Amino acid sequence: MYHELEIPGRPLCHPEPGYARYAVRENEFREQMQHLKILGYQGVSVSQALEFAARSRVALTFDDGCETDLFAAAPVLRQAGFNATFYITAGWLGQPGQLSAEQLIELSRQRFEIGCHGQSHAYLTDLDDRALRRETGDAKASLEQIIGKPVEHFSCPGGRYNDRVAKAAREAGFRTVATSHIEANSRGTDLFALGRVAIFRGLPIKSFAGICTAEALPRLRASGGIRDAAKQILGSSLYDRVRNVLLRGRD
Ligand SMILES: [Zn+2]
Repeated sequence: MYHELEIPGRPLCHPEPGYARYAVRENEFREQMQHLKILGYQGVSVSQALEFAARSRVALTFDDGCETDLFAAAPVLRQAGFNATFYITAGWLGQPGQLSAEQLIELSRQRFEIGCHGQSHAYLTDLDDRALRRETGDAKASLEQIIGKPVEHFSCPGGRYNDRVAKAAREAGFRTVATSHIEANSRGTDLFALGRVAIFRGLPIKSFAGICTAEALPRLRASGGIRDAAKQILGSSLYDRVRNVLLRGRD
C-alpha cells in the first residue's frame, strides 16, 4: 500500500508528519520495484492478483489519487512491466497536488487499474447510511463516468473498516474492499476484507523484501495491534492529532 510519492523539490500535498511518513521517496520506490524483479516477483493490479495464478505476484496499490501516481509511480511501473491499482478519492480530483480528471483518464489509458477511495476521504465507520452510500456508490459512479470503465475495487480511507462498510461497498457493486489489516491474501480470504501492508518512507530494503515474502507480517501485525488499540481508545480524530504531535520532528 503506497500513497503519494515524494519527488525532490516538490512539496507534498499535506505537511503533517503523520502524512509524510507514508510518502515514499521516488528513488526508494524505484529501488523497491527493482528489488521485486530481482526477487522474481511480478507487480500486479488487484484484479490480476485475484486470479491467484502464481505465488510470485505482489499486488501494488496506491491510495488517494495524488498526481505523483501519474508522474512518478506510473513510469517506474511501466519500465518494470508491472501493473498496479490506483484507488482514487473522487472528490479530490483537480485539487492541488491531486490528479485532474484528464490525468486520471491518462493513467487508465496506460492500462493501470483504477479503484475507488471514497468521495471525500471521510472515515467510513463514522458515517450514517446515506453518507456511506455517497462515499461508495456515488464515488464509484463518478469515477466510472470519467474513465469510461467499471471501477470494481474499493479501499478504505484511513483504514477505517467494519462490517457496515463492507456491506455498503458490496451493495454499491464493488468486487473487493482493501483494508489496512496486515495480511497476505489467499484464495480463502474474504474479498471484502483484503489485507494490505503500508510501505513507509525510509523502509530498509531488507524489510521490504520481508513484506513481499510475507515473512515480516507477524511482527508488523504485533506492532499494528498496539496502534489499533490506541485508535479505539482515543477515537479517530484525536488519534490523528496525538500521532502528529508524536511524529513531529521525526523523519
Ligand atoms: Zn487515503
